[in-house]
Amino acid sequence: METNIITINENKLAFEPGETILEVAQRNKIDIPTLCHLKNTIPTNTCKICVVEIKGEDGLVESCVAKAEPGMVILSESPRVVRDRQKTIGRMLASGNHNCAIRDFDTLDWTSFQLGVLKDDGKEDLCPVWGDCELQDLAYRYQVKTRGMPLNACSHETERANPFIIRDFSRCILCGRCIKACREIQVNDAIEFGHMEEIPKIITKDDKHLKDSDCVFCGECLQVCPVGALIPDRAFRDDRFKPTQKVRTTCSFCGVGCQMDLFVQDNTIVKIDGADPDLPPNNASLCVKGRFGYDFVNAPDRLTQPLIKKDGKLVQASWDEALDLVAQKFTAIRDEAGPDAMGVLTSARTTNEDNYIAQKFTRAVLKTNNIDHCARL
Ligand code: SF4
Ligand code: SF4
Ligand code: SF4
Repeated sequence: METNIITINENKLAFEPGETILEVAQRNKIDIPTLCHLKNTIPTNTCKICVVEIKGEDGLVESCVAKAEPGMVILSESPRVVRDRQKTIGRMLASGNHNCAIRDFDTLDWTSFQLGVLKDDGKEDLCPVWGDCELQDLAYRYQVKTRGMPLNACSHETERANPFIIRDFSRCILCGRCIKACREIQVNDAIEFGHMEEIPKIITKDDKHLKDSDCVFCGECLQVCPVGALIPDRAFRDDRFKPTQKVRTTCSFCGVGCQMDLFVQDNTIVKIDGADPDLPPNNASLCVKGRFGYDFVNAPDRLTQPLIKKDGKLVQASWDEALDLVAQKFTAIRDEAGPDAMGVLTSARTTNEDNYIAQKFTRAVLKTNNIDHCARL
């Protein structure tokens, strides 16, 4: 028997002792779907979507927890696996208000089916994450037909009391990813599995609103929620059909240099996500400022041109005019009172690179070491 080799869908793959089948598959770009697994956290094994067939074993196994063993021959899309996934997906769709995919859509293309739902079930809102939902993707991929299944009413009211995050429990599939993200990635531990009136629910301590709990609104839970149970309280939900550009950039709120993806429509940021779980320094995490603090970018009262005070009034000037004036004033002060008569305060809200240039300018051009930074600028 070959040492530390498994076969997935006829691909022979090496593994490290202790690796799960899912980890080996993901490392080798073999797509085994999962709705609860979250990279860099302990598997919860709650969704049961990642089941695979191991030759010689009677039952299917969950690949997120099953360790790779030498000689294993694994099928990730066998007819048994597909049938099992279809049942699981169907149960999830029937577990709540999943109005985008609850009907049989054999004869319709997906878009007309989705838009038809609005008329069919009389709901005011199409699901806010329509088109950006992992459960919806799987329902389509495995052609799950749920004709006749009732929409399951959810007695937990949608929580709209919080800044930034709306919690729609009627669409929660209890995968537990949000808890993992909060506890193991952000180490905030604000939410957990619980029950209210004997119905399962993701709860804060004493089931308070997020705003009255230990939540710091980092939004990590929102980023990892695979469905429309956690949604941003932002306009992008209404604009989701517009063309959207994804732009990778560095957060400018502090010097850590978190990598982020901006979702941009018509030159306006509509959402921000952490960039990539494998990309340091933040490995896809963000804080409340980085994730939600972007209104200033398109604020109508934002300064976009220099202003120079003339006759007691601030008037718009060109950059050349403003820079010439500043250079002239700095030179005059330095010549009259010496370089230490000047000092520079930079900001925690600029990038490392900007702060570096500011200290270079202070020391090399102004010739003073009077440079500091103010966290509140
Ligand atoms: S959460 Fe996903 S599956 Fe449920 S209604 Fe919304 S888009 Fe459809
Ligand atoms: S926003 Fe952050 S702190 Fe609040 S529940 Fe989500 S992950 Fe936890
Ligand atoms: S809120 Fe989202 S991430 Fe959390 S358990 Fe429900 S579906 Fe999963």
